[in-house]
Amino acid sequence: MVPPGKTIGVLGGGQLGRMFAHAAERLGYRVHIYEPAAGSPAGEVAALETNAPYEDVAQLRAFAEGCAVVTYEFENIPTEPLRQIEGVVTLHSPWRVLEICQNRTREKNWLRQHGFPHVAFLEVAADGDLAAAIQSIGMPCVVKTADFGYDGKGQMKVGDAGAIAAAVAAFKNQRAVVEKFITFACEVSVIVARAASGDMRTFPVAENIHTHHILDFSIVPARVPATVAEAAERLGKAIAEKLGVVGLLAIELFVGADGEILVNELAPRPHNSGHATMDACVTSQFEQHVRAVCGLPLGSPAMTSAAVMVNILGDAWTWQDGRMTAEPDWAAVLGDARARLHLYGKREPRVGRKMGHFTVVASTVDEAFRVARELKAKLHRSR
Ligand code: AMP
Repeated sequence: MVPPGKTIGVLGGGQLGRMFAHAAERLGYRVHIYEPAAGSPAGEVAALETNAPYEDVAQLRAFAEGCAVVTYEFENIPTEPLRQIEGVVTLHSPWRVLEICQNRTREKNWLRQHGFPHVAFLEVAADGDLAAAIQSIGMPCVVKTADFGYDGKGQMKVGDAGAIAAAVAAFKNQRAVVEKFITFACEVSVIVARAASGDMRTFPVAENIHTHHILDFSIVPARVPATVAEAAERLGKAIAEKLGVVGLLAIELFVGADGEILVNELAPRPHNSGHATMDACVTSQFEQHVRAVCGLPLGSPAMTSAAVMVNILGDAWTWQDGRMTAEPDWAAVLGDARARLHLYGKREPRVGRKMGHFTVVASTVDEAFRVARELKAKLHRSR
């Protein structure tokens, strides 16, 4: 066990690292953030910060030597330097998990290899024949870059043959995957916490509504039949176990009209769709990640109320001729006792950039969702 008082290292300095640091420090740990860019959301609140490239093995080693355990809050960390510091400190989850989850092709092949339900796909090499792969999967389909894609970045829907040429041009010289387009009834996610002992807990399944491919609302618990939620939890646990996760694993799923579930993506870290746990569960996802990576007993993920989380993007600011003319209406959210506001300290609001979130708690999800939509409209000054 890594007892309170020790230092936890975190690779990545984004908002997930920031909220992790808050949870860790509440339990008496010191947090050391390793992040290439200065002034990061997590670096600002952590006890210690190193700003250096992930490829700088000497810096990474010095960081690792000062930590009792290391984890990450971001997937796109090169694994080669991490291999080189193996043995210096324990990394949770192991770099092999990160390697699988940071690349769509590896992730999908891993799911296929282990018989987990996933969206039908074809791999295309950088110099491969994308048009042939699209024809073979059939249209509509979605083309995605194999590496470094998230929040819908690096993906394109191909609806019919007329759109193939544009996709071929857009993905020229890139490794890609072509997926069948899924007409889902809803999207859900399940976050599993796994301890090194093998003990596992799942958070209540969240229903996720995306707008322009970015998470907009997360409704917890998801409005799906209990059989679907249970299947998602069982699947999440089976995947976490097979991967050898220590810490959190978020599994994004498509739910078909018949209740069938297919894995869309895996993330071995806290997840945007788990933010409601901070205000609506006995243990937040961040505290649970601290507990799991430090070998403390896992906490109860039980809900204390229904909740809806709303992401606050840079779009909530008003701009005119390149000048910001109005801040979001913070008072509207802060003035409502059912809402909890969380901001990430990012200086520069940009369209699509996650600046914060708020969570509405209520006795039913329908009530929470109604209030969440109302407050979002007020926050955006009714635009
Ligand atoms: P991703 O970056 O893969 O998580 O995709 C972002 C969002 O795009 C997902 O949450 C879905 O809303 C949508 N999406 C991605 N892949 C597919 C697919 N194969 N079929 C339908 N929608 C998709």
